[in-house]
Amino acid sequence: MILNTRVLVLNQNYEPINVCNTRRAINLLGKRKAENVIDTREYLRSINDIFDKPDVIRLFYMVKRPLQRKKLTRKEIFERDKFQCQYCGTSKKTLTFDHVVPRCNGGNLSWTNIVSACKPCNLKKAGKTPKEAGMKLINFPREPKPNRYSFIDHEKIKTSWIPFIPWSKKKYSSLEIKENILI
Ligand SMILES: [Zn+2]
Repeated sequence: MILNTRVLVLNQNYEPINVCNTRRAINLLGKRKAENVIDTREYLRSINDIFDKPDVIRLFYMVKRPLQRKKLTRKEIFERDKFQCQYCGTSKKTLTFDHVVPRCNGGNLSWTNIVSACKPCNLKKAGKTPKEAGMKLINFPREPKPNRYSFIDHEKIKTSWIPFIPWSKKKYSSLEIKENILI
């Protein structure tokens, strides 16, 4: 359905802030709350009107959105720790979680108390603190910064959006862009 096609929404300062569908985008354009940024050279017809088909729109006003904190999940912990055991540094063994301060010593489930660890290190450390076990953490565990662009699904970025998404230019090579495989 053409009205459900995804449209990238930019803030007044051209920063991506959302992805909406064509229906919503046309609504914003119709109410003069946004402008079309890309000329798709395609049109949509209604009974009484013809619209430029939006692909990227920009709001005429600034929207302030609170940044969403990352959820403490297995995947996010491993990503923060770059899939490396935080004690021996290996990335070749199966990873598990380690409570830095063990639960039996009052250690909680938090960004600053959970790290990725390989099974041998996890077993070696057991119910001890790193100091008691004579083990050192490679990095001090912290809460990762919120993801500004969590609304963008990496798999579904259209080629035409790439100039507006700061990290996507680095992420995708020009070859991929030419081949148009991102749509
Ligand atoms: Zn290890």
